[in-house]
Amino acid sequence: MNTHASHKTHADVIIVGGGIMGCSTAFFLRKRGLSVVLLERNMTGQQASGTNFGGVRRQGRALPQLAMSNRSLRIWRASRELLGSDIEFLPSGHTRVAYHAHDAEYFSEYARQARDYGLDLEVLQGAAMRRRFPFLGPDVLAASISPLDGHANPRLAAPAFARAAAALGADIRENAPVRRVERTATGFRVETLDGESLLAERLAICAGAWSQALAAQFGEAAPLTVRGPQMAVTEPVPYVFRSSMGVYTSIKEESIYFRQIPRGNLILGGGPPGPADAATSRAAVLPENTLAQLRQFRRLVPGVAPLHIIRVWSGVESYMPDGEPIIGRSGTTDGLYYAFGFSGAGFQIGPGVGETMAELIATGRSEIDLQPFSIERFNLAGTPAPTPAQRSPQGAPPSPTAAQS
Ligand SMILES: Cc1cc2nc3c(=O)[nH]c(=O)nc-3n(C[C@H](O)[C@H](O)[C@H](O)COP(=O)(O)OP(=O)(O)OC[C@H]3O[C@@H](n4cnc5c(N)ncnc54)[C@H](O)[C@@H]3O)c2cc1C
Repeated sequence: MNTHASHKTHADVIIVGGGIMGCSTAFFLRKRGLSVVLLERNMTGQQASGTNFGGVRRQGRALPQLAMSNRSLRIWRASRELLGSDIEFLPSGHTRVAYHAHDAEYFSEYARQARDYGLDLEVLQGAAMRRRFPFLGPDVLAASISPLDGHANPRLAAPAFARAAAALGADIRENAPVRRVERTATGFRVETLDGESLLAERLAICAGAWSQALAAQFGEAAPLTVRGPQMAVTEPVPYVFRSSMGVYTSIKEESIYFRQIPRGNLILGGGPPGPADAATSRAAVLPENTLAQLRQFRRLVPGVAPLHIIRVWSGVESYMPDGEPIIGRSGTTDGLYYAFGFSGAGFQIGPGVGETMAELIATGRSEIDLQPFSIERFNLAGTPAPTPAQRSPQGAPPSPTAAQS
């Protein structure tokens, strides 16, 4: 999609990266009337934003993320009217289940804490849980239900934000890799691989797993690592599983999550992420992970045993050491903003991040406290330890292995 009609070289804001962060930021900046050029190396939504599981899940997030997550849910719910296209958001509910007594106890504790942040959960055990979910395997002890969460189609979401931004006048350029970014006396100069120079007053780096090198050009440390969550999809069968569902556990081999789409296919993920390489934009599916997922899927829902896997894939995702993203102002450079490092959980909060970035860039303030997501936690203190809210109930720090979509 090359939607730029003119060869404009100056804008209020240049955005690097056309994933869900960049595209939704562009959309909300245009809503506020700022001129925007978005530069995407490949196609919008081609990387993590288009290859993810599609979970629109609030529950299970660290408490400081819930305000953003709630803001995002409001946008997901209004997405059809807002974007003028259907991105297949299904408010089907999201259910977390536990196999272990300590995890089941944690569900009640998390539900109590999350209520103060605007997330209402229902925790069920025993016969009540079996009545609600008769298909669950015998190892399941408890279920935590978030009725307003759901899932959406990742292939559609970021491009829909890009099209809607373009319809409002954003200059969305695909196949436009950015080679260099630098501060000038009045703003920023951005140079593309084919030698074009663009100028803007402000710059937003939303380049996912590729953001580190760009931030380094402004002297900022962003110690991200790159991994590939493991995905699979089954043949279509009658549509019976309405709630998207995942196992909550600190034993990484036990993690499994799935959703069924109305066309009938069951999409699943879980287990440790595989290797990924930002330089080649490749993320590998390890066959042993797929086999382990099948074993865990049958443990969770024994009735799925006869289903065939018809496709597997992965995607290149950026993980921060403390599991929290970087969202907000640069610590070194006026007019520079970041949104990256979403650590396996950026799809749901993407639209809320875009709206918040636009608010921050346009007004200098944001309704949501962005302090927990500041890049300065790395500039000032090196690698921060996880906060208590970010720890799993067993005290293990969050890591790419704590997959729960
Ligand atoms: C397999 C998988 C499953 C996941 N499941 C879920 C889930 O169920 N729920 C959830 O909430 N999250 C999930 N996530 C996480 C979520 O997909 C990501 O956190 C989110 O999409 C990140 O969006 P982004 O815009 O920051 O990054 P990306 O989508 O990676 O976009 C960054 C873009 O920047 C572009 N770019 C990079 N460098 C340059 C450059 N120099 N010039 C121009 N363009 C550049 C890239 O080409 C890319 O398109 C999953 C991720 C993966 C990979």
